[in-house]
Amino acid sequence: MRKQIVAGNWKMNNDSKQTKALLDELLAKRPQSTNTKIVIAPTFVNLQQAVEQAAGSNIIVAAQNMHQAESGAYTGEISVGMLKSINVNTVILGHSERRAYFGETNSILAEKVKTALKNNVTIIFCFGEELADRQSGNHFNVVETQLREGLFHITEEQWGSVVLAYEPVWAIGTGETASPEQAQEMHAFIRSLLRDNISSTVAENTSILYGGSVKPDNATEIFSKPDVDGGLIGGAALKADDFLAIVNAK
Ligand code: PEP
Repeated sequence: MRKQIVAGNWKMNNDSKQTKALLDELLAKRPQSTNTKIVIAPTFVNLQQAVEQAAGSNIIVAAQNMHQAESGAYTGEISVGMLKSINVNTVILGHSERRAYFGETNSILAEKVKTALKNNVTIIFCFGEELADRQSGNHFNVVETQLREGLFHITEEQWGSVVLAYEPVWAIGTGETASPEQAQEMHAFIRSLLRDNISSTVAENTSILYGGSVKPDNATEIFSKPDVDGGLIGGAALKADDFLAIVNAK
C-alpha cells in the first residue's frame, strides 16, 4: 500500500507566534488515528519550535528547501545537517517558486536530491508544467525531463525516501485547479515512467501527490483518483480547519 500524504507548504507565512497558534490548532483538531500522513512545512526560523511542539504527535515537520552543499561559504543558506540536527528529516525540493524565482534548475535539484538522500532525509520532489506547456501539448515532455534530469539518477533503494508532488504551475495559488481527470492522466503517466525506467515495485510504491489550488471543496474528487495519493497544499494549509478538511478528504 502506498503512503497517503497531505502536506502543507506554509511558504513565507506565519511568524513565530502565528506558527505556534496554527500548530496548536492543528494538534487539537487533527484526526489522531488516520492512515494519512500529515506534514507541515513552516519557514526555516520556526522549524525547531514546530518540531518541539509537534513531538509525539502524528504531524511531521518538514523544511521547504535546503542547500546542496553539506557546509561551506554559502551565506544565508541552510544545510541538510542543520535540518537533521533539529530533527527535521523531510524536505520539499524543487517547488515551482524556487525554480522560477531562485534559479533552481534540474541539475541543481539533482545535487540537492543526492545530498538529501545521502543523509537519509525524505524528499517531497515538486515538478510540473507551465501554462504555455500545457496549451502547446508539451506538458508530458516537460514533466518527463524534470524527472529524468532531477531525480532518475538515484538508486532503486533510495526511491523509498522519495515522494513526488505533481504541481502544474498554472494551478498554484491561482484558484484554478487541474480537473481530477487531468490530475489522474498525469499521475498515471508519471507512474508509467517509473515502471518503464526504474521498476514496477517503485512505480507501485511511490506516492504521487497533486498540488495546485486544492481546497476543502475539491479535495475529495481529486483524491478519489486511483493514482493520486494525497496533496501538497499551499493557501489552504494556512487555515487549520481547511487543511484538516483536506486531510480528512484523503
Ligand atoms: C503550492 O504552493 O505548492 C500550492 C499547491 O499552492 P496552492 O495550494 O495555494 O495552489
